Amino acid sequence: MTVAPLLRLSAWPTPLDPAPRLASALGLHPGDLWVKRDDLTDLGGGNKVRKLEHLVAEAVAGGATVLVTSGGAQSNHARMTAAAAARLGLGAVLVLAGTPSAERPGNLALDGLLGARVVAVGDVDGAALERRVEEVAGRLRDDGEVPAVLPLGGSSPTGARGYLTCAAELRAQAPDAAHVVVAVGSGGTMAGLVAGLGGDRVLGVDTGAVPDPAERVAGLVAALGVSGAPVRLRHDQVGTGYGVLTAAAAAAMRTAARTEGLLLDPVYTAKALAGLAAAVTDGSIRPGERTVFVHTGGLPGLFGHSVAAALAARVLADPT
Ligand SMILES: *Cc1c(COP(=O)(O)O)cnc(C)c1O
Repeated sequence: MTVAPLLRLSAWPTPLDPAPRLASALGLHPGDLWVKRDDLTDLGGGNKVRKLEHLVAEAVAGGATVLVTSGGAQSNHARMTAAAAARLGLGAVLVLAGTPSAERPGNLALDGLLGARVVAVGDVDGAALERRVEEVAGRLRDDGEVPAVLPLGGSSPTGARGYLTCAAELRAQAPDAAHVVVAVGSGGTMAGLVAGLGGDRVLGVDTGAVPDPAERVAGLVAALGVSGAPVRLRHDQVGTGYGVLTAAAAAAMRTAARTEGLLLDPVYTAKALAGLAAAVTDGSIRPGERTVFVHTGGLPGLFGHSVAAALAARVLADPT
C-alpha cells in the first residue's frame, strides 16, 4: 500500500470524558466509565473524519477532482465526505441507497447544504450499489473529471488506519482500559482499534449494517498487518435490522441523555451503548473494570429518523 501524506481535517486528540452518572445507571462504579468523544470532530462530527484524513489524502495525491461515495439515505460517511470535499475545493457525488425523503432531513439536509450531488438509487443490494457507483464514476470521467471512489463507510485498509491513531490516543489517555466498546457498521473503526489495542480489549456491537461484520473486521485487521487478534463482537442489539430502533437502544439513548447530557444517535451509538449495558448485565464487563465507550457521532441522523418526531410528539403530549 502506498501511503499518501495525511491530511488534517479536524483537531486531535478528541477528549476522553468521565461519565460517572451513566456508569452508575449501568451498574458500574462511577469511576469506571469514560467516553471517547469522536463525536466532537469537525465536518459535523463523527468517526468517518479519521478515515477520511487517509482516504482523501490518497485521492488528492491521485489528482482527484471529485469524491464519489455511497451509503444509506442517512449515511454519516456520505455527509462527512461531502464536507471534506467542500473543505478541499473538490466536488462530491453521493450515491445513496434506501429511501431518502425530505420528511426525514437529517444528513440529507447537510448533504445539500454542503453542495453535494445526491444520486438516489432505491433499495438495492451491496453489489448493485457498487455498480451504480461505477456508472456514476464513469460518467464523471466522460465529463473530464477525475473521480476518486471512496468505499462504503470509508472501510478500506487505508480508511481503517485512521483508527490506529485513535487507538494510540486511547493508549495515552486510558492505558488501563479493560474494555473499549464501539458500534460496528462497515467495520473499519473496530478494525483499527483491534489492530492498535489488541482484540481482547475491544468489544464491537453489530448494528446490522452489513451481513458479515466479523469477517470484514478480521479482514481489515489482517490488512493492517496484525494477525491472530480475536474479534469480540455482540450481535444481540441488531433487532429487526439496520436503522430500526430497538427498545434497548431507545432506553440507552434516554439514559445517556438524562444522566450525562450525552446525545446518541438511534442507528449506531444507541445500539452500542445498549450492547455495553447488556455486557454489564451478563457479566462480560464487571464493576471495577475501566471501560471506554467510543462515541462515534451520528447525531444528524437522529433528525433523519422517525424517532425524532416521536420524541417531539411525546414531550408535547406529556411535558414531564
Ligand atoms: C459509520 C458509523 C459507525 C460504524 O463505523 P464503521 O467503521 O463503519 O464500522 C458508528 N457510528 C456512527 C455514528 C457511524 O456513522
